[in-house]
Amino acid sequence: MKIKSLRYRINLWYTVLMCIIAAAFITCVVTAARMVEKNEAQQTLIKSVERNVDEIEVENGVLDIESDFAFLNGDVHALVFSAEGNLLGGSYPDNFTNPPEMENGKINIIGDYYVYDSLLHFLKFEYKINGITGEIISSECDALVSYTPFSGNLDTVGENCVLSYRQAYDIALEHSTRTKESTELIMARSYEYNEDPLYEIEFYCSEAGYEDIWVRGVMKSDYTGSVWGIIAQIAAILVPIVIIISSLVGNIIAKKSMLPIKKLSEAVSFIQSGSDLSKKVDVVDSDPDIVSLTNNFNAMSERLHVSFETEKQFSSDVSHELKTPTSVIIAECDYQLSSAEEPYTESFKTIKKQAEGISNIISQMLLFSRLEQGNEKPHMENEDLSELVNAVCDNIEFVMNKNITLERDIDNDIFMKLDISMMTRIVTNLVSNAATYQDDNGYIKVSLKKNDEGILLTVQDKGYGISKEHLDKIWNRFYRVDKSRSRMSGGSGLGLSMVKQLTEIHGGKVSVESEIGKGSTFYVQLPQE
Ligand code: ADP
Repeated sequence: MKIKSLRYRINLWYTVLMCIIAAAFITCVVTAARMVEKNEAQQTLIKSVERNVDEIEVENGVLDIESDFAFLNGDVHALVFSAEGNLLGGSYPDNFTNPPEMENGKINIIGDYYVYDSLLHFLKFEYKINGITGEIISSECDALVSYTPFSGNLDTVGENCVLSYRQAYDIALEHSTRTKESTELIMARSYEYNEDPLYEIEFYCSEAGYEDIWVRGVMKSDYTGSVWGIIAQIAAILVPIVIIISSLVGNIIAKKSMLPIKKLSEAVSFIQSGSDLSKKVDVVDSDPDIVSLTNNFNAMSERLHVSFETEKQFSSDVSHELKTPTSVIIAECDYQLSSAEEPYTESFKTIKKQAEGISNIISQMLLFSRLEQGNEKPHMENEDLSELVNAVCDNIEFVMNKNITLERDIDNDIFMKLDISMMTRIVTNLVSNAATYQDDNGYIKVSLKKNDEGILLTVQDKGYGISKEHLDKIWNRFYRVDKSRSRMSGGSGLGLSMVKQLTEIHGGKVSVESEIGKGSTFYVQLPQE
């Protein structure tokens, strides 16, 4: 799976988080709104039923549903039932089925409907009696929802009255034709009415034939779908908007928060491209983490710089120290060879050959050191590269001690700015490698052509070839594929590394194609300018 950038991941997480927050917010708001709405609808139903309850009376023992009783009040359908459940008035909404059992004072939810029942007890008698004369001023018979039995003393006499509470109660009972046994006093008080003292007496009658009745309210809730349905509808509109907005905002936030890292990365790659580890990365942000990262990076590159410098200095010093003794050994061998006799001649020849090998390595090491320390500056002149390549081929053909065909396909008059000694090393190393790493009766083809990118030097052989696992390592210093073969041929493993470095000094690049047993082709792509 492709690894996504940090910025992309921050943006993604931010967007997902915002969507979750938005979804949670919508759910809470919709749920709260539904609860308020449900509560309001139920209160409307309850109030409507209670108002209707007030409109039911009993006149002289006969149930009287007054004209203000609303059988349809807005969305509320009202129905009146006897205690046995017989419908006395009103009707259910058209689509309402499965009416529930009567339950006093409780909201039932049946499908899309709310149902509320209120139980009325009958009969309540209400009398107003003159406290002096016992005259009945008014009498009423009404519904009674709930009651508390009278707890006062019936034998006391109300203020300015002549009659006692008990006498007033008896007058009321007599008028109502009810017996004391079938009734219960629930309220008795006295007060002044038109300057006359007055008793107000209320009592409840539990006589058969005057049982409870029910008032039922049925209301369709306009809430037809589930909360999740509504949330889904809102989310379908809001979520894409939230995703777009939060993705844009997330992108800006991610971009801003990654800016110091980006700056740091640019600074590091600038230093890396210059291959000068002594340079320091400037602190690009005041963020403590970035400051710490920058400081750590600078400390690490400082350590690397010191250790590279030490290593370079060491190899430079060793090369210098070995140069003189090696030259002395070679000179001494030459001197001895001029006068020595068998069997010493062979020994001196061997010593001289080995010393020349060491001397060759030392001079290459010293060249590397000079290049790295900037002491070996290329002297770029506009030169005839075709002539240079031909001259190298001539030399190699001359010294080659194998029977190898060297074919040339070198275009004439290819000029470029080059350092003659460096370019000679490049071509010599490649062509002599091609000759070294193949047997007698081999074949080399050297070609020089202009192409789209500039000038291409190709050295092809039909030699041993190089296996894939070694191909990218042969450019490293002292890397040799077959150590024994390389050593026998006097190789040190520095040639291709030198070719690479010198080519890069000329602004070019090297590459190779090879197959074991079939041969190798080395390419040096040089720029025209
Ligand atoms: P050396 O001095 O050993 O030749 P180089 O740096 O020139 O060192 O080459 C590195 C290694 O690459 C060699 O040891 C050899 O194994 C391999 N190599 C280089 N050129 C060729 C070639 N033309 N054919 C096969 N192998 C090669």
